[in-house]
Amino acid sequence: MSTDRILFNRPYRARGELANLEAVLASDHSHGDGPFTASATAKLRAITEAPHALLTTSCTSALEMAGLLLELGPGDEVIVPSFAFTSTATSMALRGATCVFADIDPATGNLDPASVAAVITPRTRAVVVIHYGGVAADMSGLLELADGHGIVLVEDNAHGLGGRWRGRPLGTIGTLGTLSFHDTKNVHCGEGGALLMSDRILMDRAEIIREKGTDRARFLRGTVDKYSWQDLGSSYLPSELNAAVLDAQLDEFDLIQSGRHRVWDAYAAALPDWAARNDVRLMTVPPDREHTAHLYFLRTPTEERRDALIRYLAGLGIAAPFHYVPLDSSPAGLKLGRTPVPCVRSHEFSRTVLRLPLWPGLTDEQVSRIVDAVTTFRV
Ligand SMILES: *Cc1c(COP(=O)(O)O)cnc(C)c1O
Repeated sequence: MSTDRILFNRPYRARGELANLEAVLASDHSHGDGPFTASATAKLRAITEAPHALLTTSCTSALEMAGLLLELGPGDEVIVPSFAFTSTATSMALRGATCVFADIDPATGNLDPASVAAVITPRTRAVVVIHYGGVAADMSGLLELADGHGIVLVEDNAHGLGGRWRGRPLGTIGTLGTLSFHDTKNVHCGEGGALLMSDRILMDRAEIIREKGTDRARFLRGTVDKYSWQDLGSSYLPSELNAAVLDAQLDEFDLIQSGRHRVWDAYAAALPDWAARNDVRLMTVPPDREHTAHLYFLRTPTEERRDALIRYLAGLGIAAPFHYVPLDSSPAGLKLGRTPVPCVRSHEFSRTVLRLPLWPGLTDEQVSRIVDAVTTFRV
């Protein structure tokens, strides 16, 4: 058996990237908001059906924009999942808000509405939800809580471009949605992101926040004759160089997604017998959701067996990492957050989760090697 190293992730290369980059470099416009930004934004709006979208320099900066748009400040509380990426929390903490950590549903790794309900207070302003692996969270439960308590739902949809919950595109169900185009994500431009929203008033402010607090976007459209400092803001717009790569990737979105689903489906078809014999839980997708094949995870009964499986796969040249140190137990989470109810399922998930390699260029031979390796391991 071949033991060439199989990478966990390999950033996709789209055919049109170099031609697009050359076009930007040959033009006199490589700063933000040029033709490739407009083109990529239109493609994103087509995929997500979002009435408004703005490209940003990262998902993190889109989340920071959400914190500014919501005018969060000291005394406000934002509920975030314990099992999450740091940006989900630090973007809110940056505004002075307190992160309140809630637990997850161990079947999906997603925020559990019952855990959210248990930590809502009169100071709760927002809930940030992740669609882990591109599988939608339980949005009916979260929408009900948000409506009932006047809380804003923000979707950190870094994993879920093109995913759906009951037919609705992820990133457009909450008031604000964010996307990541980091090179570990399905579609990428090295570093990049986007903010999605349906509200025109929020969009007007978001344009200002993204352009250093100025109404430059209106000036460029000719609706004001000079631009000036209007509001808080920062520099959240990406260069045309990034937009050029993103635009080329979005042209191949369907190809990228079918390549990823091919690998995901192969794992889902090949692993159930082994999983049942070994008390391993596999990733599942509830029937009312269309996932994005962003990742394929499995969970072992114990941390010791998880670490043993990672070592075993590494010995066969296969990278299979775990992730997300629970935010509530992290140094900054302890300082900037609150955990009214222990997030025991998040901690258990973090100790037992493992992700298999998943990218469109994996060959069927490599996928077979991964499946053979996993299924010869006695958990
Ligand atoms: C990758 C990721 C982010 C951060 O994305 P950037 O574009 O690198 O800022 C935020 N949230 C989640 C869930 C992520 O996976």
